[in-house]
Amino acid sequence: MKPFLNWLAASTLLANLSLLPSISPAYASSTKSQDNVSDPSSKQSMEARWDYMGIDGPDHWGILTKEYMTCETGNRQSPINISMAKHGQQHNSLVIRYHPSQVYELNNGHTIQVSHASGCEAHLNNRTYKLRQFHFHAPSEHHIEDQAFPMEMHFVHQDEKGHILVIAVMMKTDSSVPVLEELWRWLPKQQGKEVSLPLEISIADILPTVTHHYSYSGSLTTPPCSEGVQWIILKEPIHISNEDVENFVQIIGHNARPIQPRRNRQIEEE
Ligand SMILES: [Zn+2]
Repeated sequence: MKPFLNWLAASTLLANLSLLPSISPAYASSTKSQDNVSDPSSKQSMEARWDYMGIDGPDHWGILTKEYMTCETGNRQSPINISMAKHGQQHNSLVIRYHPSQVYELNNGHTIQVSHASGCEAHLNNRTYKLRQFHFHAPSEHHIEDQAFPMEMHFVHQDEKGHILVIAVMMKTDSSVPVLEELWRWLPKQQGKEVSLPLEISIADILPTVTHHYSYSGSLTTPPCSEGVQWIILKEPIHISNEDVENFVQIIGHNARPIQPRRNRQIEEE
């Protein structure tokens, strides 16, 4: 069993390090391979199984396999409750450049993950991060002043050195923004299934108009819970209909990791 486990460890590590930056949607769909940066990892992959409840649930992630140990031993874990934020000493200049693109929706068993065909990026403090994928959680993983939201979106980015930036957008119920309705029309119901949308999606139209935000240093919110993730939580929520939240939960279930200890981490706002 040992050599197999070692091989498993090596392959998981490799997946985490390489982050599949140039993965093409076609490749993603043929292998069910998951961007591990991307928080959600596939139940079909060789990684240890994990879930949001029961014996494979968040309280046990850290002991499922040694690759997930950080979920238990880490001290800069996400998500957290955002409170008592301080205005940063330096202005951090967040610029988001998302473009209309062909998109692919994958039901990986943990979330609906959307990848896109071409060049969307975010710039933060003179670093350029490419958008790798975005996905959804219900209910929200982060809380703001002890308030959870019905859903939360994560836009997962990576710079050329492998640093990860996740921009989180809270989702409040109201009538859905049109671009979300379009995404919802094609939600793959079956686990492992990927759908290529027949039209381009304007990813920028998902975002709120104002990008005031909180920022802090945390981790991926799914195994392997790797730390060193730069989090940006936009203050302004976007809207999604009740019905769309229900549809998502019906397909995926609840997929939010519980709030983690903040410890002595600073949260900045602007
Ligand atoms: Zn996420």
